[in-house]
Amino acid sequence: MSAERHTFQAETKSLLRLMIHSLYSNKEIFLRELISNASDACDKLRFEAISRPELIGADELAVEIVADKEAGTLTIRDNGIGMSREEMVQHLGTIARSGTREFMNKLTGDQAKDAQLIGQFGVGFYSSFIVADEVTVRSRRAGTDEASEWTSTGEGDFEIKETEKATRGTEVILKVRDDDKEFLENSRLSFIVRKYSDHIGLPIRIRNDKGELDTLNQARAFWTRPKAELKDEDYQAFYKHLSHDFEDALAWAHHKVEGNLEYTSLIYIPKRAPFELWNREAHQGLHLYVKRVFIMDKAAELLPPYLRFVRGLVDTADLPLNVSREILQGSRTTEKIKSALVKRVLDLLEEMAEKKPGDYKQFWNTFGSVLKEGIVEDAANGERIGRLLRMASTRDPDGEPTSLPEYVKRMAEGQKSIYFLTAESLTAARSSPHLEGFAKRGFEVLLLTDRIDEWVVSHLTEFDGKSLKSVAQGAAELEDVVETAEQSQQETAFKDVLERAKAVLADRVQEVQLSKRLTESPSCLVAPDFGMSRRLEKMLLQGGEKIPRSKPILELNAGHPLVERLKETNDEAVFGDLVELLHGQAQLAEGGQLDDPGAFVKRLNRLVLGQAPTGRIIV
Ligand code: ADP
Ligand code: MG
Repeated sequence: MSAERHTFQAETKSLLRLMIHSLYSNKEIFLRELISNASDACDKLRFEAISRPELIGADELAVEIVADKEAGTLTIRDNGIGMSREEMVQHLGTIARSGTREFMNKLTGDQAKDAQLIGQFGVGFYSSFIVADEVTVRSRRAGTDEASEWTSTGEGDFEIKETEKATRGTEVILKVRDDDKEFLENSRLSFIVRKYSDHIGLPIRIRNDKGELDTLNQARAFWTRPKAELKDEDYQAFYKHLSHDFEDALAWAHHKVEGNLEYTSLIYIPKRAPFELWNREAHQGLHLYVKRVFIMDKAAELLPPYLRFVRGLVDTADLPLNVSREILQGSRTTEKIKSALVKRVLDLLEEMAEKKPGDYKQFWNTFGSVLKEGIVEDAANGERIGRLLRMASTRDPDGEPTSLPEYVKRMAEGQKSIYFLTAESLTAARSSPHLEGFAKRGFEVLLLTDRIDEWVVSHLTEFDGKSLKSVAQGAAELEDVVETAEQSQQETAFKDVLERAKAVLADRVQEVQLSKRLTESPSCLVAPDFGMSRRLEKMLLQGGEKIPRSKPILELNAGHPLVERLKETNDEAVFGDLVELLHGQAQLAEGGQLDDPGAFVKRLNRLVLGQAPTGRIIV
């Protein structure tokens, strides 16, 4: 086939321009990207050679860097999988992952950050144009003897033609720009390789003045090196390589396990949330290696979805080299590794919470809502996850969120349960009438405002032998707040009022009763003891779920003058107005909507002006 010209995909052009423009002071990262591609190509070959060992034969896989000052070229060469002509057109002419636009939107102008984004979005190859005004890629696919050559000046099109190449693999030849001749200096190149690529598991060599090859890196898979030999910086550098994050990791754990199950795991907790964190489908997962051979990234089967923020890898001898996602899904070994990894992650988080509360706080703010899913998903570890939760509470309005063990330690005398209130916002929660009796009694109440909290409390019904109870649901167990004797006296005194009020509200409430939880507000709505919480019901209804609407209970505060007034009101129309107002304000206080806002406003005005529904002045 003869030479062909192709234009770049439209987006590629603007991407190239942007990249060159935005990384002018961070040019060196092009080398990191090209070495990373070379190393990926060797990983892919190793993987293919599992079923076709003749592809590698006795070769040692390696990367070579050759700077030719006279020709002004820099060559990065590997003996990995190589590319066919079609693969070159596809991989180097279009951006395979649909990430381009997203990538361009993410560019921040902060060069250090943008440099990392390049790796994350699979556009690393194009970074060669930062330092080169022409790039040539010569490649021969393993197992074939046809080679192709791709050339481009990065200005809109590329040419592809046949070529001769004696060996398998890829050669990227950069014609280095006049301004960037520093990248033809071996000392500069060696420095960059050590900085970014020391942990790459195959030798990276540079050709010296005498024409010999010097090895620049450790050339050993990072995680196989003894822990004692590895410094924090090494772990951080490897983290960045693995996750394409531009920030340091918050914490990590490196384990070698021998015996029944044999694996090495290296797990990291990032500092920042990746952009796809909320997409449970895009669950990133760990990298999986079998006996040092890279098998797959995003092995979601190794961690449950609620730990999808964890980055890292597992290298095991217990899975077959030809393991596929399907095999992985059904394998008992996977299950065992997975449950061991969950423990490691929880250990790591517990340790962080205990020894580095500042870091834990940062973790919680970033990933807390995801970890909470574990309460729903992983009942077996419920107690451990429960201890890791952090929640706002009534104890200290501006204070730090509390943990359940701390709450339990502070529980007041006579308090049997752990109390919580779920609400739309902290402000709404703090001024909720449901809290009044609890505040008076000195019972702390946890304030839960995350949407997922509704599910959390429906699964976490007990902690440390104490049940979790909503202050907005059922009998509030506040016998101690109001004296029982007084209570029963009032019940008799209000019997008639409660019945009349129920008749006014008819089907809108299940019952009207005197409240044990209100001390200041006149009324509130509560959900029946064994039903769904009011907020969960609302969320499900909003989400279009077809669930029967439950009827709340209207509670009235016998000590409130408005409720007192009910007793003295004989005029049924005035009585009706008052009951409607008490019901309406209870709906408003829980962040709900009124059935008939206009009517509510009219009634309110009548009350303020002391008018009866007929317009007659009553006070
Ligand atoms: P990414 O590495 O994230 O996929 P790049 O822009 O760095 O994105 O590379 C694009 C694609 O080009 C790679 O996925 C790979 O298919 C191909 N490629 C690049 N360099 C090489 C190489 N040295 N050997 C084989 N294929 C390569
Ligand atoms: Mg790459």
